[in-house]
Amino acid sequence: MQWDNSFVRDLGWLGARVDPVPVADPHLLALDEDLARELGADPEQLRSVEGVEVLAGNRVATGSEPIAQAYAGHQFGQLSPLLGDGRAHLLGEVVDISGRRRDVALKGSGRTPFSRGGDGRAAIGPVLREYLVSGFMHAVGVPTTRSLAAVATGEQVRRERPLPGAVLTRVASSHLRIGTVVLLATQGSREQLGALAEHVRSRHHPHVAEGDVLDLFASVLERQADLVAAWMSLGFVHGVMNTDNMTLSGETIDYGPCAFLDTYAPEQWFSSIDHTGRYRYSQQPTMAAWGLARLAEALLPLAQEHPDDAVARAQSLLDGFDARYRASRLDRARAALGLTGSTDDRDGELVAELQGIARDEELDHTGLHRDLARLLRGEPARHLDEVEDREHWAAWERIWRERVASTGRTPHEAAEAMDRVTPVYIPRNHLVEEALAAAEGGDLAPFAALDAALRDPFVERPGRERLAEPAPRFTRDYVTYC
Ligand code: AMP
Ligand code: MG
Ligand code: MG
Repeated sequence: MQWDNSFVRDLGWLGARVDPVPVADPHLLALDEDLARELGADPEQLRSVEGVEVLAGNRVATGSEPIAQAYAGHQFGQLSPLLGDGRAHLLGEVVDISGRRRDVALKGSGRTPFSRGGDGRAAIGPVLREYLVSGFMHAVGVPTTRSLAAVATGEQVRRERPLPGAVLTRVASSHLRIGTVVLLATQGSREQLGALAEHVRSRHHPHVAEGDVLDLFASVLERQADLVAAWMSLGFVHGVMNTDNMTLSGETIDYGPCAFLDTYAPEQWFSSIDHTGRYRYSQQPTMAAWGLARLAEALLPLAQEHPDDAVARAQSLLDGFDARYRASRLDRARAALGLTGSTDDRDGELVAELQGIARDEELDHTGLHRDLARLLRGEPARHLDEVEDREHWAAWERIWRERVASTGRTPHEAAEAMDRVTPVYIPRNHLVEEALAAAEGGDLAPFAALDAALRDPFVERPGRERLAEPAPRFTRDYVTYC
């Protein structure tokens, strides 16, 4: 791999140069070979003893300059002035085979100066959850950090009970977050804040003119609006949208307490530490805008306009979040219904009406959309057969079919297009839990089978029927722990 560590070079003072802490007995659990090749690495070499030592943090690769990054973050609304990588090490950046700069970092790789009371380690369950879900997100085209590898450490970590430890290798456009900017806005100099803003601009938003921090803000805002729209379409509940978990690149980061809606229940949340449901499904757009407001505040000191004008411009950009989000969400919802071409004024109503039915009838969010395509093909649609208010359903279906016909697509063409945007396999909570529990006990087969399906999520494959089944009712009070 070709290392070129621009963060250490430009902003090395924004972290602590520390090496990962070696582990007792590293064993490879999973490796994304496609991603390895993208990075210019040889998968066989990564599987070798030396390769696994690098992925475990036991050996520092030539060219890598490990650093724990500093950042702040608003956690559940309250500013934590200094968080930083307490159990992660950025190994450096690799320029991949298509010339893209990618962060390569370890998570669970030992204590750093930012660890506070933590042990610096990660348990196998959360590591494999991130591996599974990030792999899926990438497969369905959602911007995300990636998982190159998961390595068992041969050590136990103490959580509610002792658990096998693991290290994840995370690949990202960068690990720069809203919280990184907040740290410098609250505790850095103007020069430092300016250097960070320029690093972020040139690296992630090169179309923005140098020095125009509000345009930079607008660009981050657009990506976050589109990202949350993608999450909402999939039923993804991130779980902990603190400002240290919102990237400036617009990639999804931190799969700690995430989950997916089974039935369409917009007020649902899963995370054990989210006592009020701040980050519940329906609140995600609002919470993204809230985090973006913190970014605007942090960048404002760098704005070149008169302070009053800058505040007014930042506010008007923030006010535009909702429209951007709604447009992006509607585009996706239309595609999921087989609609193409220009938006009909009533498309929004059609979508909202369907959401109302899905909520009232407790329909499976993913199964429902796959079933709509089945209806168009004249195939059995078991989720929709469960709808009790048949009259309401028939009225909706008639309008929808007319609308599909008005696009000029045949029902079959529309169904094909729908199946390209709604996956048949998603990381259903009960399947993820089952795979992680088996892995904790040493059996990786369910994890590997689920991972394979999630990386090829749009086409039904024989032998994977069980992976497309909705959750049994009794597993629906699902709680996640990070
Ligand atoms: P997260 O909840 O993963 O976003 O982490 C929030 C903060 O807690 C970050 O600064 C992490 O690095 C830190 N952290 C989480 N778990 C640990 C741990 N086991 N040891 C040290 N720091 C941790
Ligand atoms: Mg985090
Ligand atoms: Mg986390």
